[in-house]
Amino acid sequence: MPIIDLRSDTVTQPTAGMREAMLAAELGDDVYGEDPTVNRLEQRLAQDLGFAAALFVPTGTMSNLLGLMAHCERGDEYIVGQQAHTYKYEGGGAAVLGSIQPQPLDMEQDGSLDLARVEAAIKQDDFHFARTRLLALENTMQGKVLPLAYLAEARAFTRDKGLALHLDGARLFNASVRLGVEAREITRHFDSVSVCLSKGLGAPVGSVLCGSEALIGKARRLRKMVGGGMRQAGVLAAAGLYALDHQVERLVEDHANADSLAAGLRELGYAVEPVQTNMVYVQVGERAAALQAFCAERGIRLSAAPRLRMVTHLGVDASAMAQVIEAFAAFRA
Ligand SMILES: *Cc1c(COP(=O)(O)O)cnc(C)c1O
Repeated sequence: MPIIDLRSDTVTQPTAGMREAMLAAELGDDVYGEDPTVNRLEQRLAQDLGFAAALFVPTGTMSNLLGLMAHCERGDEYIVGQQAHTYKYEGGGAAVLGSIQPQPLDMEQDGSLDLARVEAAIKQDDFHFARTRLLALENTMQGKVLPLAYLAEARAFTRDKGLALHLDGARLFNASVRLGVEAREITRHFDSVSVCLSKGLGAPVGSVLCGSEALIGKARRLRKMVGGGMRQAGVLAAAGLYALDHQVERLVEDHANADSLAAGLRELGYAVEPVQTNMVYVQVGERAAALQAFCAERGIRLSAAPRLRMVTHLGVDASAMAQVIEAFAAFRA
């Protein structure tokens, strides 16, 4: 019985084509800047997203950390959403390793940060205060796509206030595919962008930080410092290049599967939040653990949370959605 794993889009296995590309990758020592495949991946994403430079790193956590540390000095501050990955899910790295103070703010329903609230949180130039330096956004945010008009406003706002603007674009391509625009229509509003290759794109490892030459130069030094300088990393970068060539357009399938899963669960009477990309949030209340165990017996892996998140990816198809809906129906009955 093949396992249907909806806990995250990080659970994918490299596809056959991806494994071939990894085997065939031309390699060198990337700490010397000599891995041709890493260099190609960095140049490719920088160009696609409209930046001068890029840096390949093992994880999105490191990519965001290097972005924050490249923008901010010790005693600086970044403004960020309460539920944002860079604030809540990265071990406090910006504060611990960068001595950067986070200023978290409540987020709006659509995943944005109200710019009037951001403005109110910006500290005056006064030695009592940390220096507010950066606004960090996330897109997609819990599966929600930030509107392009909001990004343009955030860009104009941060320019006006002298703040840098960073995007945690772990699922950037889910957002661009959903909007039907090139990814650079999103990224052009930002000073730096972190993209994960290991989420819906299906690579086993890797993220890329994009920015100016100066910013990426700084991030490259910091990457060495935090232990992220890798050697023949082209074997991993090849997977990323393959994903960019072959596994971006197919994200529409993940979104369609999420839609049909949501529709099926709604028909059963479950309260399901509106779906925009590859995440389905459903209220299962205090029966979360029981549901998880019930589904596990049927080969379906779920997290156990009252607000249950299910994530579609290239490892699950339409028939898997039907099986999940069936399992939820049986559980409810
Ligand atoms: C997964 C993720 C990251 C980075 O995670 P890693 O597991 O460190 O690669 C960053 N931001 C968001 C929104 C994510 O979902």
